[in-house]
Amino acid sequence: YGDATQKIDYVFKVVLIGDSAVGKSQILARFARNEFSLESKATIGVEFQSLTIVIQHKSVKAQIWDTAGQERYRAVTSAYYRGAVGAMLVYDITKRHSFDHIPRWLEELRSHADKNIVVILIGNKTDLEDQRAVPTEDAKEFAQKEGLFFLETSALEATNVETAFLTVLTEIFNIVN
Ligand code: GDP
Ligand code: MG
Repeated sequence: YGDATQKIDYVFKVVLIGDSAVGKSQILARFARNEFSLESKATIGVEFQSLTIVIQHKSVKAQIWDTAGQERYRAVTSAYYRGAVGAMLVYDITKRHSFDHIPRWLEELRSHADKNIVVILIGNKTDLEDQRAVPTEDAKEFAQKEGLFFLETSALEATNVETAFLTVLTEIFNIVN
């Protein structure tokens, strides 16, 4: 990855959105650095991580943006969404309200982002199955109705995190190719 002369074929901007504390920053840390922290601090300022992956012999630079404690409704600015070709809409499977807010996030996304943006709905914290408040079927049904990809993840256990990112990035890749 340190090779500065590496040719980049594509740069894809992907944004993480969803209520505060659902695990967005830890999902990104798990994917970008294979790290996880239980004492995750609220993100200050806009932050993104870049990493390069190879899809069908092309190098794709994924620029993943993480919200900066702006998770209140309408607080995320249009600059955050500008140029995004993918979005990960995250809720916490143990917090019903975080799932109930998903339609708002989707509405906000659709009013700011490109209409062809690839969106995946993510139910995070599956390691807390005994505290589950959102049935998988409810989320699956919602995703189907809205035309979203859907996966449940655990940033803590590293379950499905990579798959979630690769699902979005591969779909974007297929659209532009
Ligand atoms: P954000 O506000 O959406 O960025 O949420 P954070 O990534 O900061 O995570 C909020 C809290 O949830 C932190 O205490 C994390 O350690 C915890 N957390 C994040 N992902 C998981 C997960 O998959 N399982 C569990 N048990 N806790 C998680
Ligand atoms: Mg955060």
